[in-house]
Amino acid sequence: MNLLVLGPQGAGKGTQAKRIAADYDLPHISTGDRFRAEIASGTEFGQRVQGILAAGELVPDELTIGKLREWIHAEGQDGFVLDGFPRNLAQAEALDTMLRELGKELDAILFFDLPDDVATQRMLKRAQEENRADDTPDVIARRLEIYHAETEPIVEHYRATGKLVPLHADRSIEEVYTEIQQALQRFEDAA
Ligand code: AMP
Repeated sequence: MNLLVLGPQGAGKGTQAKRIAADYDLPHISTGDRFRAEIASGTEFGQRVQGILAAGELVPDELTIGKLREWIHAEGQDGFVLDGFPRNLAQAEALDTMLRELGKELDAILFFDLPDDVATQRMLKRAQEENRADDTPDVIARRLEIYHAETEPIVEHYRATGKLVPLHADRSIEEVYTEIQQALQRFEDAA
């Protein structure tokens, strides 16, 4: 299964994506997690993007798309859960091309919908728990601004595929996960 999780920061995408990956035995390819890992291990790439992540801006498309291509080719041959990519239309189109080249397509796009005030509260809470450099109030506001301006428009790109699964993310982890499982079962039954 080739899955994508989409939605604002704080919507629980990462938590659900990890759980889906474990239950369905798929690699979890999270651009944010992998960028943070590169920063933590001090790679050249990590040093290059550290300031960008700390400011809440997007890593330039050519860098991000290059990395994603590497990861999909290395790990995504038998399915994946993609988390944090695409973040704009150019990345969505690059992903379409990449998957077409590999003879693959997305099976479902899980769209986590969440009001901004709830997303902000959840990110501030996570800031205390995880001590992330980009969970300060100013940077959170900037990340949500970028989300609405650049990422949200790609929801329509995916709605047009008929594979978008809208989820109300303002509920418990369990409730959202149950709905995800039901949606994935429907896609599997239809396949
Ligand atoms: P996340 O953990 O998904 O919120 O990502 C953390 C940060 O990593 C973002 O604020 C961006 O700086 C960077 N990032 C993650 N994914 C992407 C992407 N697809 N394109 C550009 N930058 C990204």
